[in-house]
Amino acid sequence: MSASAETQTKTKVTALPGDGIGPEVMDATIKILSAAEAPIEWEFAEAGAKAFERGVVTGVPRETLDSIATNKLALKSPLETPIGYGGKSANVTMRKFFELYANIRPVRELPGIATPFSGRGIDMVIVRENVEDVYAGIEHMETTGVAQCLKLMTAPGCERIIRAAYGLALAEERKTVTVAHKANIMKLTEGMMKRMGEKVAREFPGIRANQIIIDNCAHQLVIKPEAFDVIVTSNMNGDIISDLAAGLVGGLGIAPSSNLGDNAAIFEAVHGSAPDIAGKDMANPTALLSASVMLLRHIGAFEVAEKVEQALFVTLAEGRNLTGDLAPRGHGVGTKAFTDQVIANLGRQSAMRSRTYKKLELAAWPKLTAHAEPTDRELVGIDIFLETDMGAEQLGKTLEELSKYSPFKLTGISNRGVSVYPPTGGETFLVDHFAARFMLDTPFSLNNTTTTGQPEISYLVQRIGSKFTWMHIEKLQRFDGKDGFERPQGEG
Ligand code: NAP
Repeated sequence: MSASAETQTKTKVTALPGDGIGPEVMDATIKILSAAEAPIEWEFAEAGAKAFERGVVTGVPRETLDSIATNKLALKSPLETPIGYGGKSANVTMRKFFELYANIRPVRELPGIATPFSGRGIDMVIVRENVEDVYAGIEHMETTGVAQCLKLMTAPGCERIIRAAYGLALAEERKTVTVAHKANIMKLTEGMMKRMGEKVAREFPGIRANQIIIDNCAHQLVIKPEAFDVIVTSNMNGDIISDLAAGLVGGLGIAPSSNLGDNAAIFEAVHGSAPDIAGKDMANPTALLSASVMLLRHIGAFEVAEKVEQALFVTLAEGRNLTGDLAPRGHGVGTKAFTDQVIANLGRQSAMRSRTYKKLELAAWPKLTAHAEPTDRELVGIDIFLETDMGAEQLGKTLEELSKYSPFKLTGISNRGVSVYPPTGGETFLVDHFAARFMLDTPFSLNNTTTTGQPEISYLVQRIGSKFTWMHIEKLQRFDGKDGFERPQGEG
């Protein structure tokens, strides 16, 4: 060990060896990091299948959460949720527990890994919002045949992920941040991400701000992947395009990622536990090793990170002693031999240079982020979601009758977001789930606490409830003169 490494203080990191091939790729990674004199002290902890099997319903024991909470850093191998154990994912538990809102997925062409895109110079990072959107898992059966999933996106959620993308661009000296969104269809949720992108971009004049609609982004990723630098996007969009992008450079088996938040950072391989090859000395540790390189940079150990990354690049480029998934058929070696080869290459430089990195600074967010109150907040109407097998016209007439003594007037009915009353002449296929929109002639000012509209809403709901099963109500509000709701397709 060199004198400088001996005197360097070590950073404690929780190591989760996980399931399947997890312990093998973790062993390999720790062995390489130790040979590279990485300033890390490992604290091993359990999560995944064994925890589930001994009755920990989340798959993550309290001691493990405590270890991560104390160290604020973890390196995690793949975790399994065994069949019959409730179906909660240990990965998601940790992500939500520590509010790891930023999923960072670098996608870079690696030397020696031939793909149809080799030689194009793909080098991008996908920054995926990790906790909001439809992945909040807020789902309901509205009727026996209609399910809904709430797509919740928040201004602080959009702001912090966009700021993380700009922070990453600065740390890695990247030139462009592209917000990928679906604001053309989801104007309020995805539109919030787009608008926040425009707002935050103004603070970073040195970085080019770009926007793209997510479906075109998927298309451009295949047509011109080298054109992308940093892409930031919402949870589900990011889930899909980050796997797509990994496929361009060799697949999920070699893809690393980090999950960052204010309270902790967890670094992991993207692949799963590959139980079919577990314990057979066949697994490729490249993804976890690359995740550990991200971890080293996160703690500021830039030189060791580059040393490990370069040794990996040399090993892949020379193609000697690669695991079976990368080597020509019949020429693969075991995890241990690959690990020894990477160690033997420590100190060598590859033709593929490492990028320049600085520490990624994330803005700290308060636990409760109340957003700016509007000066003027009005209640302009309500949507009532109800179940019926009545036709649209008959339903319209019935609701008009039921609401005739209410200040709320029926203005339209929609079915799966398509306007069906007043009749449009369209050929809409109907299900037993309708949204009836009632508007007020004179809005209630919600700034004035005496006019909440509450008794008027209760009256209308009671009247409608006397004839129909209703599932939920949405208040239609206007904030500073701006509608906080969308109109159904086809509404005039
Ligand atoms: P997987 O474990 O990624 O494995 C799919 C196949 O990819 C394997 O059978 C193997 O293919 C190959 N592979 C993956 N990683 C490899 C590596 N490091 N070295 C060599 N080959 C590798 O996906 P899965 O079968 O869908 O998932 C298995 C389990 O992992 C499930 O319980 C799942 O829930 C869990 N999982 C966990 C995470 C996580 O913790 N982050 C992520 C995904 C899945 P061959 O058949 O060619 O050998």
